[in-house]
Amino acid sequence: MDLYEHQARQLFEEYGIPVPRAEVTDSPKEAREIARRLGGRAVVKAQVKTGGRGKAGGVRLAADPSAAELTARQVLGMDIKGHRVGTVMLAEPVDVVEEFYVSYALDRTAGGFLAIASAQGGMEIEEVAAARPEAVARIPVDRAEGVTSAKAGEIASAAGLPPQTVDVLVRLWQVLLREDARLVEVNPLVRTAQGRILALDGKVTLDDNARFRQARWSERVEEHPDPLEAAAAERGLTYVRLDGEVGVIGNGAGLVMSTLDVVAGCGARPANFLDIGGGASAQVMTDGLSVILSDPAVKSVLVNVFGGITACDAVAEGIVAAVDTARLTKPLVVRLDGNSAARGRAILGERAHPLVEQATTMDGAARRAGELAHTA
Ligand code: GDP
Ligand code: MN
Repeated sequence: MDLYEHQARQLFEEYGIPVPRAEVTDSPKEAREIARRLGGRAVVKAQVKTGGRGKAGGVRLAADPSAAELTARQVLGMDIKGHRVGTVMLAEPVDVVEEFYVSYALDRTAGGFLAIASAQGGMEIEEVAAARPEAVARIPVDRAEGVTSAKAGEIASAAGLPPQTVDVLVRLWQVLLREDARLVEVNPLVRTAQGRILALDGKVTLDDNARFRQARWSERVEEHPDPLEAAAAERGLTYVRLDGEVGVIGNGAGLVMSTLDVVAGCGARPANFLDIGGGASAQVMTDGLSVILSDPAVKSVLVNVFGGITACDAVAEGIVAAVDTARLTKPLVVRLDGNSAARGRAILGERAHPLVEQATTMDGAARRAGELAHTA
């Protein structure tokens, strides 16, 4: 899944990569207000998931707020390579002195990652590579080693980028790694007349296996914030609502993602993604369960915890507390393993709630939760 430019920009900002000030709108009137907030002038940029917008007339400079309104009116509704423009981003114009290209991409042939960088940015990198292959540096990146400052320095000097780009190169790698992206690209990364390095345009392609990350960017979440997601966010939980009937809670994004896959593999559908995190306390477990149980689509709940920093006895106490305070009406299948698993299982055994079952394996737990959801 590709992100829109403004979404990539938002991620860059979150990771400390400098970007121009910008706002998004679908209304020409609002475009005028945004331009005013940006200081009068604005670059009006079509938000479509394709490159080459500049050449197609989808990136235009507006000299003042009324020009911004007019330009937004022209750009909105445009067709760019078969993509209809539904929103525009207005960005603060910057004085560009130099344009660079930087990206990290999954390299299928080598089974690793490849950094591609060039001091000839702005145009499509394929064109640069065809015309002047020596102007494009390609450096393999080992996923485990990642892009340290030293590695970023190597990439920058191979491509002839100034040393100030090193910090951006390190942060861009963090975006790729932590957001489960297959591609992160900045084109152009610019040096301004004031000597700042700024990411002027970005492309991020998320790995299709990291579904919970994509939910954050789906139109549904953006347009109608989900009340359960809001409630979970208030309690500091990472929760994403999905379409199914089996509620899922686990600790650690990786474990929760595998749990979703195992549930799907049993022919059931997960109702949500909920990660209670690494050092989860009993309270966090109680909060998490209460969010999931208040979803009417949920027919059964699967709790899958591998105790590392989180001790399973704390998780079990959280489950007991949740069961006692929330008055459980839906079946719960619990699989505890790892740190203090035996104590955790004993706590649940003692409470002996008729709707709480324990399972010893992840597959067994998922199968049982699926069955219970279908008979409920
Ligand atoms: P793309 O054509 O889809 O890749 O869209 P970009 O966002 O990369 O914009 C195309 C080109 O417009 C960039 O390579 C820049 O040369 C230019 N551009 C975009 N924003 C600005 C800006 O704020 N100032 C200046 N001087 N040029 C800009
Ligand atoms: Mn571009």
